[in-house]
Amino acid sequence: MVYKSEFHHVVLGSEAVMHLLIEEINKLEIESRLLDPPKGLRNDWNKAVVAHVESFFDSLETQKAYQYEDPLQKNRIDQSSFENPAPFEDVLLQIKHQIDNTGINTTSSRYFGFIPGGGLYPSALGDYIAAVSNRFSGNFYCAPGAVRIENKLLHWLSELIGYPKGSSGNLTPGGSIANMVALISARESFKFKAKDFHKIVIYLTQHTHFSVEKALKIIGMREAILRDVAVDEHYSMRAEILKEQIKKDREEGLIPWLIIASAGTTDVGSVDPIDKLSVIAEENALWLHIDAAYGGFFMLTEIGKKLFSGIEKSHSVTLDPHKSLFLPYGSGALIVRDHSKLQAAFSQKANCMEICETIVSELSPCDLSPELTRHFRAMRLWLPLQLFGVNPFRAALNEKLLLAQYFFEKITQIPQIQVVSRPALSIVAFRYLPKKGDPNRFNEALIKAINDDGRIYLSSTKINGNFYLRFAILSFRTHLQDVDLALNTIREIAQTKDNK
Ligand SMILES: *Cc1c(COP(=O)(O)O)cnc(C)c1O
Repeated sequence: MVYKSEFHHVVLGSEAVMHLLIEEINKLEIESRLLDPPKGLRNDWNKAVVAHVESFFDSLETQKAYQYEDPLQKNRIDQSSFENPAPFEDVLLQIKHQIDNTGINTTSSRYFGFIPGGGLYPSALGDYIAAVSNRFSGNFYCAPGAVRIENKLLHWLSELIGYPKGSSGNLTPGGSIANMVALISARESFKFKAKDFHKIVIYLTQHTHFSVEKALKIIGMREAILRDVAVDEHYSMRAEILKEQIKKDREEGLIPWLIIASAGTTDVGSVDPIDKLSVIAEENALWLHIDAAYGGFFMLTEIGKKLFSGIEKSHSVTLDPHKSLFLPYGSGALIVRDHSKLQAAFSQKANCMEICETIVSELSPCDLSPELTRHFRAMRLWLPLQLFGVNPFRAALNEKLLLAQYFFEKITQIPQIQVVSRPALSIVAFRYLPKKGDPNRFNEALIKAINDDGRIYLSSTKINGNFYLRFAILSFRTHLQDVDLALNTIREIAQTKDNK
């Protein structure tokens, strides 16, 4: 059926033309109704999806942690077409072969690269429910219940940090966006003009996540001065050096603005001395942002609380529920001590939104973030918290902290292994010093051999020009037996290579 554009031009009102118009509408309705499958078809599809998901779970233990793309499957995605409907079985097979079984298996208990998490099952159900009901969670008037849930979660996160009443934030797609929103809020709070950007100073360390510098570029502040403050032997920012640097910068007519502290660096899991930094921020009237994208939810444990003490005196905190709260990807959060800073940066009046101002008993996400129409992402965080309660999360995080200590103790028993430092949280960076040859070459080849083997997956980093393997424990599925398997795999592959 072809849409007849001539209907746009004919003079309406004539009986005959109206008849043709209705006939055409009726024809189109039959086809467009295909977009709303009836109950029977929905049930068939649901069953097929559940079977697919269960077979995924059944194979989880035997799946490799890294799988190269099958050359035979490579071109199938490019060659597929959207012109005609495909049978669901074929589509699910395509998902299995081309998506589920390639690349890093981030749901595996043996995935130790980058920052794991795993992806909690109730979050998937939450996404499903949220997508079906499709509430407009950007605005309170439009979806009061959805926004209340989001604000409740933000309140819970604020309490976890120890922020006073009056703080708020938003659930973001991830930590990078949360960091960017924090930078915008801090910029607006200081009321900077673009002509001064080149004099503004930001203090961080060489281990600060690259998303901060990327965010500065995105928000048009690439001229700002980045000061890499020296770190101590634990890779934490040296507070006394920061203090001196701020003084020096002021004397030179520059404008100290922002301290970025990491509550868990991605490279080595080190934690900056937040308490000391908060005093310096206060004395100098600087904004203190804490990037806790990796480590944030260790605040649920006593160890984390102690390590991050002073975090309640910061101005903003980035958290990533898709890391240390094990959610599927697409879940970050920014919490700001004073919600009016966020509002000042992001609230915008619009004629088409006036009706929404008739009920404003709660803050609306659209007034606190760059987004308007958005994923109702609160549901995927709320549902697991409802179904599990917080205690299993606390146990899992404590377990990961202890597993990291266990791994450290065991790996340092291998004589050729050099470890960066005892893990503060759950990341251990290490390298193998071979009997002969260049250590960097050896370790580059070692990580490739380990990941080709596929039983476990590790990623790497460079510290002072040296190549290190990183062992990050954070999947909720990772337990003692997985860490033992990793230790054996690393030892076996490294020693075989070294003896060659
Ligand atoms: C992962 C990470 C980020 C970026 O977060 P995304 O969710 O990947 O966008 C920022 N900071 C730290 C410390 C991280 O570990």
